[in-house]
Formats: sequence, structure tokens, C-alpha cells
Amino acid sequence: MGVNLNPDKVCNFDCIYCQVDRTTQSETQFVEIAPLLQELKETLQLVASGELFQLEKFKNTPPQFRRLNDIAFSGDGEPTTYKNFDEIIAACAELKRRLGLDAVKIVLITNASMFHRPHIQRGLEILDQNNGEIWAKLEAGTEEYFKLVDRTPIPFRQILDNIAAAAKIRPLVIQALFMRVHGQPPSAEELEAFCDRLNEITAAGGKLKLIQIYTVARRPAESFVAPLSDAEVDAIVELVRRRTGLLAKAFYGTTT
Ligand code: SF4
Repeated sequence: MGVNLNPDKVCNFDCIYCQVDRTTQSETQFVEIAPLLQELKETLQLVASGELFQLEKFKNTPPQFRRLNDIAFSGDGEPTTYKNFDEIIAACAELKRRLGLDAVKIVLITNASMFHRPHIQRGLEILDQNNGEIWAKLEAGTEEYFKLVDRTPIPFRQILDNIAAAAKIRPLVIQALFMRVHGQPPSAEELEAFCDRLNEITAAGGKLKLIQIYTVARRPAESFVAPLSDAEVDAIVELVRRRTGLLAKAFYGTTT
């Protein structure tokens, strides 16, 4: 179940591959906590009671897939820029507990740009206590490539420091999207530098439980961006495993 805290589609990054459709405007500009919790409660109750699988859309779901895996905070922008982030995470966790859905994970999909703020750290701690998982974006090894891909004034060092500090407290999942930019895949030097950054995080005591290597699967923001082939994604996964000893997994794109 996805929770979108940024229906206004505003983000503090401007990734060249962003797959959020910004050509249309949403009717909702700001998420109010009370209606969000009401909607979440109604949906979670459908899951807890099993009624979800009587609805037309889900009634043919095979038995082995009849579960709610996670509540994912992602959406159309960076969820940690939401000003009441800790409050909303606490309220969702409380709701999940009340409905006896302890096995359901809460996943935060984030660009890690705000981890240094105290109220975000409080939110992350609440995630830790409630079967939470943090998927942090890191897809460059150098400041130059970071600026090319993620197009933000936030320094690369800040993102690296934030990830390293958060990973010392709990294991993180890293999400790394690589692509062709003007027909060129990331250079061998850039990928080596990416592995170096991962090694620096773990050498400083950070725990990284999985590196997800993926590529563009939907229409990107810029037309000069294209997916890598499956073989190219596999080669990066292999490199990461060999250079870092970390668990790495491939997620393929579309070549159409
Ligand atoms: S951080 Fe995510 S939402 Fe923001 S521009 Fe990048 S891909 Fe899009």
C-alpha cells in the first residue's frame, strides 16, 4: 500500500530519470493527517478482515499472494520533506498495531537528504520500533555524476554522511538506479567510485543489508535517458558483489 505525502509533486531533487508524471497537476496539494489516517484505517481494516479479497479488483488473487506486504511511504516527491513526518509515521504505526498487523512492514523510500533533521531522526526511530525498513537512494560515486543525475543543490557529501549515520543505527537498503545518459552507460570509473562509497559506509560501521540495482522502467523525465539492458544491470550487480561483498539484486527495466 503506497502512501503519497507529496501530491503537489514537489521534490528537493530533480532526477533526470524521475518517473513521476509532472505534466499534470494533482487536485490535492497538501496531505492533512486526519483524512490520511481515516483512509489508511479503512484500507487496513479491509485487509485485516479479509474483505479486501472479496472486492472485484482482488477477488481473483491466488491464495499465496493474499497478503499486505508493506505500507510504503514514497509517492510523487521526497516523503521526508513533509513537515509533520514524525507525527504521521507515529500515527500510522499506532494504527497498524491497533489492527494487529505487526507483520506488515513500513517502508520509507527516500533520497536521504533530510536524515540530519531531528524530527526525521525521530520518525526513523519510530520506524525501527515498528517493523520499518529504509530504502535510501544512492546512485553515484562522484559529486559530478550525482549532480548530473539527481540535479539538486544539496551536496553529495551530505547524502553520504546521512546514509552513513543512519546505517550505523539500523541496516539500510540502498536503491541505485543506473541508466544510459545521451546513450552512454555509467563509466567503469563511476561504478568503481560507487563501490568505494559503499565500502566507506560499511568501513565506518554502517550496515547495508541489500543493494538494489535497477534501471528505468517507465517514462523518464528527460528524453536523453534510456534503460540499461538486463546484461548491463547484471554486470553492475556482479561488480558490487565482488567489490563490496554486499548482497546485491537486479531489477530490470523496459527496453521498449
Ligand atoms: S528523488 Fe524521487 S521523486 Fe524526487 S526527483 Fe528524484 S526520482 Fe523523482
